[in-house]
Amino acid sequence: MPEPYKRSRSLRRLQVKVPGGRISLHYRNRKPGKAECSNCSAVLKGVPRERSLKMHNMPKTKKRPQRPYGGNLCSRCMRSLIVGKARS
Ligand SMILES: [Zn+2]
Repeated sequence: MPEPYKRSRSLRRLQVKVPGGRISLHYRNRKPGKAECSNCSAVLKGVPRERSLKMHNMPKTKKRPQRPYGGNLCSRCMRSLIVGKARS
């Protein structure tokens, strides 16, 4: 029987093939949900789904698209916001 904290589903289960050929269960922390656009809540592309330490060690350019409001707004919302700002 696994330890009590491994019996709950709060940890992700990975089937890892060990060198002996046997498949063993490994337990990892779950990844956070996908990043969403703050305006239309569409799933943002180019934003990795990683936990905070890995995100912290990642270069800034790999964390979000290189454009205004990258990582906060989807490209369509960013475009309409900028067009609206230019018109007003
Ligand atoms: Zn959007």
